[in-house]
Amino acid sequence: MRNLWSDEEAAATVERSRAGGVAEDLALRIYTSRLIGGEPALVIHGGGNTSVKTVVPDLFGRDVEAICVKGSGWDLATIEAPGLPALRLSPLREARRLNALSDEEMVRFLRANLLDPAAPNPSVETLLHAFLPHKFVDHTHATAILSCSDSRQGVDLCAQIFGARLVALPYVMPGFLLAKAVADAYDAAPAAEGVLLHKHGLFTFGATARQSYDRMIEFVSIAERAIAAAPAWTPAPRLLQSKIADAADVAPVLRGLCAEGLGGGRWRRFIAQHRSSPQIRAFVDGEDLADYGARGVITPDHIIRTKNKYLPAPAPRAGDIERFRDEAARAISDYRACYGAYFDRNNARAGGAKSRLDSAPRVALVPGVGLFGLGRTASEAAIAADLAEITIATVADAERLGGFEPLGEEDLFDMEYWSLEQAKLGAQKSKPLEGQVAVVTGAGGAIGAAIAKLFAENGAEVALLDIDEAAARKAAKTAGKRALAVLCDVTDERSVNAAYAEICRRFGGVDILVSNVGAAYESPIDAIDETLLRKSFEVNFFAHQRMAQGAVGIMKAQGTGGALLFNISKQAVNPGPNFGAYGLPKAAALHLVRQYAIECGANGIRANAVNADKVRSGLLNEAMIASRAKARGVDEETYMHGNLLGLEVRPEDVAQAFLHQALALKTTGDVTTVDGGNAAAMLR
Ligand code: ZN
Repeated sequence: MRNLWSDEEAAATVERSRAGGVAEDLALRIYTSRLIGGEPALVIHGGGNTSVKTVVPDLFGRDVEAICVKGSGWDLATIEAPGLPALRLSPLREARRLNALSDEEMVRFLRANLLDPAAPNPSVETLLHAFLPHKFVDHTHATAILSCSDSRQGVDLCAQIFGARLVALPYVMPGFLLAKAVADAYDAAPAAEGVLLHKHGLFTFGATARQSYDRMIEFVSIAERAIAAAPAWTPAPRLLQSKIADAADVAPVLRGLCAEGLGGGRWRRFIAQHRSSPQIRAFVDGEDLADYGARGVITPDHIIRTKNKYLPAPAPRAGDIERFRDEAARAISDYRACYGAYFDRNNARAGGAKSRLDSAPRVALVPGVGLFGLGRTASEAAIAADLAEITIATVADAERLGGFEPLGEEDLFDMEYWSLEQAKLGAQKSKPLEGQVAVVTGAGGAIGAAIAKLFAENGAEVALLDIDEAAARKAAKTAGKRALAVLCDVTDERSVNAAYAEICRRFGGVDILVSNVGAAYESPIDAIDETLLRKSFEVNFFAHQRMAQGAVGIMKAQGTGGALLFNISKQAVNPGPNFGAYGLPKAAALHLVRQYAIECGANGIRANAVNADKVRSGLLNEAMIASRAKARGVDEETYMHGNLLGLEVRPEDVAQAFLHQALALKTTGDVTTVDGGNAAAMLR
């Protein structure tokens, strides 16, 4: 592993930090923490922690001996001074005299010793850092170290390659007892340069930031050399059908099977994210995948994100997705049963007081296709997929070293159901559309962008489709960093299919379609050019049908219902002069809503429409407003406020109506009017 320390960069960081009022010790701590955090083979997604012992002034300007340690919620890759809260060191060290300290007592004790009571919770490994005498302490879950430690002869192998330079301890749950065990082991071997916690990770330490970092990189490099010296491991490939289904067809089936029905049309859904690479494929295509692929996590930290066991799924044959569904349903039902038995066994051992988590897998390994990360949100799914990728590489290396052998289920259960983690779960609040994927067409326009933003704010993962890719990207930025912008021509079948495939690979499927796209054409009906009329039908009717058809196919594959929401416009019910080219396909689209409502209700798929009027947008631009005002014989201002309430309708008002329809689980075949009140357009 490359050592990235640079004297110039270290000096520059110290210089910059001084300007921001951060002292040198902490600045160097930030510098090497970021070097470590930026390397996925050391830590990933908030894993690992670092500390520095220093002196900070109190309110009276007196020096206080303190330890600055990584705070919860911070990532080493992007850590800043507030992410390394300072605690009074001497009371922490005194705690070593205690015989026991519960996790809750420890958290309270640590918080009570923070210099800033508003700081984040310091790492649960703070006492371990405090009990060691060194100024700098670094902790990672380096994959090369884990490959060695998690191999069948791991204890002997590590003793052989690291010698007395590392003190090695068998696995102990993080917390007070581990901190004491590490301090005792170090006291017995004070020449050690680090502590190896078997099947968990590595601590290194030193008098300077550089020394501790150098040692981390050196030990990881020693482990890498041991792996490189071992014979290669290539799993024997299974015989795959020549034609394998596409990930985009597999994802909705898996996602649907993992979802949980809550009754009344409600579902607990997952987002699924697909990954593939030559390394992933070699792993998931192996004949013995069910064995080596499902033994367990490489370090206990992962269990909260991925559960202990991955799901080895069946191989999906192209053109026979029904067979895949049956086989995958059995595999997932077995998975759930095993998880339930694991919970019951270990909960009984642990005193029977734990609340059971859901039993759905978080990583699915699919031969011929790759892997899927699953989570309640797209971020969680991506994290699960990232951890799975790291795990695949680590397991493959452990196999080279004699066979991957993870920690036993009792220790992992204690981690998964740790009281501190269970407390975090209780504090989580989910948003109303969490776990749902919403596709918005015409998303680059004012109304589409407002819908995407509002749906994202309510927890949905949003795909923004537009023929203007730049506009879709711009709107996606306002809909959060998980939003997906997709170039799509809704009048082209191939473009629509490609967009749905991309969405299925990224999010796993579709739950809500907001078919919003539209284009206005004006012409007297008796003089209309038929080409223009057909063009209008393409975008204002056939695009709705094409998008709905694609969405329903995916929704049926998921088997968890869904919502088709259409923007039909007032023209569908109250035609305006010279606007037939626009109103006719919109009227057909209104009928389309009802057709889907009656034909898809049995599948739990709802179809509703919003009838909006006079919303300033790309479609109703200033020129069009002038022209329509003239057609109605009024001035522009009167035209825009010309409704019973005398209020202009805004894109956000339309978005609110769509949100309501997405949430109204007992409503289908409905049209919601958002026009400020227009007697002629009232539905009857
Ligand atoms: Zn750790």
